This record gives sequence, structure tokens and C-alpha cells, in this order.
Amino acid sequence: MRLTPSKIVCVGRNYAAHARELGNPMPAQPLLFLKPPSAVVGDGEAIVVPAASSRVEHEGEIGVIVGTRLRHADERTARSAVAALACLNDVTARDLQKADGQWTRGKGFDTFCPIGTPRPIAATFDLAELEVVCRVNGAVRQHGSARDMAFPIPFLLSYISHIMTLEPGDVVATGTPEGVGPLVPGDVVEVEIPGIGVLRNPVAAG
Ligand code: ZN
Repeated sequence: MRLTPSKIVCVGRNYAAHARELGNPMPAQPLLFLKPPSAVVGDGEAIVVPAASSRVEHEGEIGVIVGTRLRHADERTARSAVAALACLNDVTARDLQKADGQWTRGKGFDTFCPIGTPRPIAATFDLAELEVVCRVNGAVRQHGSARDMAFPIPFLLSYISHIMTLEPGDVVATGTPEGVGPLVPGDVVEVEIPGIGVLRNPVAAG
């Protein structure tokens, strides 16, 4: 199943240990960027490594699916608009991200946003209990807890909604924990959010 969000809003450096591993300071406010809807693929579809990059990396993340329109929302309203969660891989051409300074090319290639099947959650679901695990060829590379987010999910949605209206079906990628690393053709990468689902994608050459 392939989602068709009007936009995918992503958060950079939302886990301190990941900011450190890439030598970056933590932002004082959420660091936002966009991935294009054309980057979305579903579970089982291939991530295609583009010829332009020699360093494509996985970023396992907790994806939030917005259920109701949010504009200038407070955190409580934002929390109530979380319709579902999904495993998400913010695939990144790290060399191009660094070379460009801004992130549209490095984050925006076709197939660079695998999103798993959304799982609806109850209003009482504790978002802070979430964990995210990323495996490459069965080996765990990342394992993070939402408790370690610098900016929790309701804060992020509220913050974003003061900049751009979040529409039903929009996706928010909430940042990646430490342990990002390379993907090469032939790999199989999995993002799992225990209790929510598993997203598995093979990696192919472009
Ligand atoms: Zn990311």
C-alpha cells in the first residue's frame, strides 16, 4: 500500500545522540525539512540507490499520520489529531546532503521515503512509550525511544501547524535515533516500531 500525503514534514536532529554522531549541535527549535510525496514507496518496494550518490543511508523513524486538519493547534489538539502511526525510513544520500548544504536533493529521490502500513491508535495511547528499531540484513543498527526525542510528537505537530496547515493524510517523520549507516544494493532494510508494525524494503541499484 502506498500513501499519498500532500506533504511529508520531517524533523532533523530530534535525538541528541544522533546529532552528536554526525557532529551537529542540537537545534533550539525543531529543524524542519520536506520530502516530496513522489519519494513514497510501500512495504516490500525497492529503495533505488541513485547513480549520483555514493553514500545512501537509512534513517529509521516513527511516522505520524495526521487525521484531521491542524492549523495553529495547541499540543492537546495536535495530539488528538494523530490518527495512526507508521514505520518510516527517511532514506538519505548523505554525500549529497552535505555537498548541497540544503537537503532537498539528498532527501528527495524517488523511493527515498518508504512508509509502512499505518496502524490506527487510540486517543489514550502513550506516544512516549514508542520505540523504533532499524535492521540491515537482520542486524540491528538503530534502536531509539520516543522518550529521547528533544521535541515530543504533540509539540512537533503543534509547532508545524503554526507554519503550515497539516492536512488529513499528511505524514510527519519525527527524526532518527543514532546508528545511521550505509545501504547498498542487495541489502534488505527493516524499520520496526514494536506494537505498530514492520516495514521491509530491498535496496536496488539505480
Ligand atoms: Zn530523518
